[in-house]
Amino acid sequence: MTNPILFYSTNLKAPKVTFSEALLKGLAPDKGLYMPEEIPGFTMDEIHAFSGKEYHEIAFEVIGRFLRDEIDDEKLKALVKDAYNYPVPLEKVIDNKYVMRLDQGPTASFKDFAARMMGRLINHYLDLRDRKLLILTATSGDTGSAIANAFFGLERIKVVVLFPKDEVTERQRKQMTTLGNNIQIVSVEGKFDDCQAMVKEAFSDPDLDYLNLSSANSINIGRLIPQIVYYFYSFSRLAKKGDDVIFSVPSGNFGDMMGGLFAGEMGLPVNKFVISVNENDEFPIFLKTGNYKKIEPSRNCLSSAMNVGHPSNLARLVALYGGVMDEKGVISKSPDMSKMRHDFDAVTVSDKTTKEMIKLAYDRYKLLLEPHGAVGWKGLMDHVSENRVGKDQLCISLETAHPAKFPEAIVEILGFDPELPESLIGLESKTEIFDNLTGKYSDFKNYLKQKY
Ligand SMILES: *Cc1c(COP(=O)(O)O)cnc(C)c1O
Repeated sequence: MTNPILFYSTNLKAPKVTFSEALLKGLAPDKGLYMPEEIPGFTMDEIHAFSGKEYHEIAFEVIGRFLRDEIDDEKLKALVKDAYNYPVPLEKVIDNKYVMRLDQGPTASFKDFAARMMGRLINHYLDLRDRKLLILTATSGDTGSAIANAFFGLERIKVVVLFPKDEVTERQRKQMTTLGNNIQIVSVEGKFDDCQAMVKEAFSDPDLDYLNLSSANSINIGRLIPQIVYYFYSFSRLAKKGDDVIFSVPSGNFGDMMGGLFAGEMGLPVNKFVISVNENDEFPIFLKTGNYKKIEPSRNCLSSAMNVGHPSNLARLVALYGGVMDEKGVISKSPDMSKMRHDFDAVTVSDKTTKEMIKLAYDRYKLLLEPHGAVGWKGLMDHVSENRVGKDQLCISLETAHPAKFPEAIVEILGFDPELPESLIGLESKTEIFDNLTGKYSDFKNYLKQKY
């Protein structure tokens, strides 16, 4: 190890650590989030040369820049090849506007991109250190199944996933509860934010130190870095020389869009990030007014994985723009709001509009979207029309889950049941195993102590 990139905590009260330490810790000891002290870059020639590389090769280049001196090249090549063995379709919709489908992984969610890579990296570093870990994660639907599937069968890792009882679909639940082995699933009386709060409290509870806890939520830097890759990939496939690109990112905890922001910092020519959110509109209001106020409890919307009243990665975004936000959402140093307004557009999409968009996109373009992707596409459409974006401008909207994961919504709006991707076939007949808990931290703590 000669010169690794170090990671600092957004609360600025913890020592800097290397990537592998940040990966294994998850949250910094001062409750802040780890951020790279230096963001490596690519030249435009290097970026355009990605057009001749496969997805996993681009992943090697991008992730390798952050892990320099901390992993052997041949090892990293093997890990990315194993993690990214599925296609990333780019669907042309109209003019120079595309939808990137991030839904072809084993759980048909974009969260597979991060979880599969993070699982492999954690296992690699645990092996080197001869250690074991218990991963706690809260999910509003897609994270849990992506994490559970990505870590299933890994010898050095046990996983506990908490999900809000009434906020995940049956298929999402079955993707987690039918695995068994090293994967334990727990249903909680409460909302996603309650699950997340319990997980966070467990991390800072000294009585649970013996469990060697780690997180796999989007707060782990090991999930953010793999999410940079598809921004480079899509650009390399679609851009002509001289192009820049507008991305629209359907957002909840802002992990996905942080990946995009890092890509921009690394040299990707991004014209604008459209941050598309559902009725949980704390960020659009913040961007407009400069005043940040979380939404408690978060609002229940159709795009349920985005029902977030306080995005857990917001502290990172604030840090990237020179500000400081603590884990409670209190800003002690204001970020550069005018630069943020220059880089982003933030669009709120109501449930009613989400449904109308699913219908319109299908009727007009035969574009099949589920609620999250529809929020993204609508955000892009609003941005394009309000700013008179030209027809030649390259625009890419992210579709973050497969429509078949939301059959009730699709049937109601379009009148047919979307075809299942291969990964979801046969789930119905498998046996489910999971435990039930209240939303009280003390119950969760006792549960962990008894079980592990
Ligand atoms: C998690 C999720 C999102 C939101 O991603 P963030 O990184 O939390 O902003 C969007 N769509 C789907 C389908 C998701 O599962």
